[in-house]
Amino acid sequence: MKAVTILGATGSVGTSTLDIIRRAPDKFRVAAVTAQTNAAKLAQIAIEHRAELAVIGDEACYGELRDRLAGSGIEVGAGPSALIAAAEHPADCVVAAITGAAGLAPTLAAARLGRRLALANKECLVAAGDIFMATVRNSGTELVPIDSEHSGVFQLLAGADTRAIERIVLTASGGPFRGWSLERLAQATPEEALKHPKWNMGPKISIDSATLMNKGLELIEAYYLFPVEAEQIDVVVHPQSIVHCLVTFEDGSVLAQLSCPDMRIPISVGLAWPERIPSPAARLDLVALQSLTFEAPDLERFPALRLAREALDLGGTAPAILNAANEVAVESYLARRSGFLDIARTVATCLDRAVQAGLIRTPQSLDDVMAADATGRELARDVLAAKVAG
Ligand code: NDP
Repeated sequence: MKAVTILGATGSVGTSTLDIIRRAPDKFRVAAVTAQTNAAKLAQIAIEHRAELAVIGDEACYGELRDRLAGSGIEVGAGPSALIAAAEHPADCVVAAITGAAGLAPTLAAARLGRRLALANKECLVAAGDIFMATVRNSGTELVPIDSEHSGVFQLLAGADTRAIERIVLTASGGPFRGWSLERLAQATPEEALKHPKWNMGPKISIDSATLMNKGLELIEAYYLFPVEAEQIDVVVHPQSIVHCLVTFEDGSVLAQLSCPDMRIPISVGLAWPERIPSPAARLDLVALQSLTFEAPDLERFPALRLAREALDLGGTAPAILNAANEVAVESYLARRSGFLDIARTVATCLDRAVQAGLIRTPQSLDDVMAADATGRELARDVLAAKVAG
C-alpha cells in the first residue's frame, strides 16, 4: 500500500489522480492534500480519502477549511510553509500538480526527500531545471514525469541504451486555433482558447496549449529530464493526440508511445511504475481512427514555441523569466485586459529587455530563481501596462 500526497489535489491532474486512487484501494491511500483557495473541495477530498493532512495555500481560506474539517481528525494547515510541510509529510509518493511557478518551492521540498516524485508541474523544471535536477540526483528521488509526452519518453527509454538516442519528438495537438489566421487569432476570446479539442485541463495549461507555449515549456522540460541536447528535441503537430512522442535511436529504429488522450494513463504510470495497473481510459481502435497525421508547427502564428527554444538556448535564468512573463500575460488575457497575440508578444519583449539589461545569469540558488521569476513578472506587467496606456 503506497501513501500518496497530492499537491494541487483540487485541480485537473489532482482529480484524475484521485480517480486512479479510488479505483485501487488495495494499492494506494492518500496522505496529504493541498489546494490554493478551494477549501470546500479540498475538505470533501480529505474526508472522502481519509487524508492525514489538508493544507490550503491562501491563509484567508484557513478558517473555512478548519471549520469544514472540524471533528474529522484531519490535521489542517495554511500558507506557503504549510504547503512545504505537506510536501514533506510522510508518504511514498508525491504527485506535484500545482499550476505554475507557485509549485516550485513545495515540489523542490518533495524532491529533497528521496521518494517517488510524480511530476506534472513542468513550470518548476522550466524555472529551475539545473537546481531541481541536482536536488533530485543528490537525494536519490525517483522522478517519474506525468506530462503525457514525457511519460511516453520515460516509458520508451526504460532499459534503453540512452547513449544511442538520436532524436526525441514531442507531439502537440496544435490546440483549438490550429489553422486560424493571424487576424482571427487577434480576436480570439478566452472562452474559445479554453476549449481544447483533445484534453480537458486547467485554465493556465489550456491557454498555453492554444499559444503553443505549453509545447515550448515541454521542450525545456524534456531537455532537463532526458540525456539529450536541445537540438535533439523536435516538436511535431499531431491533431489526433494519439502518438505522444517518438524516440529515434542511432540504428534508425523509431519507438513511439500511443494511447487515447487521457491523463489517467500517465498518472497510473507515475503512481505504479514499474508495475502496470488497470486504467479506465478508453482503448485505442486504430481501424476506427483510420489515419494519424503530422505537420510542422507554424512558428509565425504561434511564436511562443520559438521563444521557449530561444530561452533554453540563452540558458541561466532566461527560462524562469520566460515562464514568469508568460504566467502574467496569460492571467491578463484570461482577465480580458489584453488579447491572445499579446501573450507571445509580451514574452518576446520581456526576454529582449532581460537580455539587453544583462539580467540573464546562472542561478546559484532557489532565491536566484525566485528573483528571476519576480523580474519576469515585473517586466511583463510593465509591458502590458504600457500597451493599455498606449
Ligand atoms: P488546475 O488549474 O486544474 O489545478 C491547479 C491546482 O493547483 C489546484 O489544486 C489549485 O488549487 C492549486 N493551485 C493553484 N495556484 C496555486 C498556488 N499559487 N499555490 C498553491 N497551489 C495552487 O491545473 P492542472 O491540474 O491543469 O495543471 C497542474 C500542473 O500540471 C500544471 O503545471 C500543468 O502544466 C501540469 N499538467 C497538467 C495537465 C492536465 O491535463 N491538466 C497535463 C500535463 C501537465 P485551487 O483549486 O484551490 O485553485
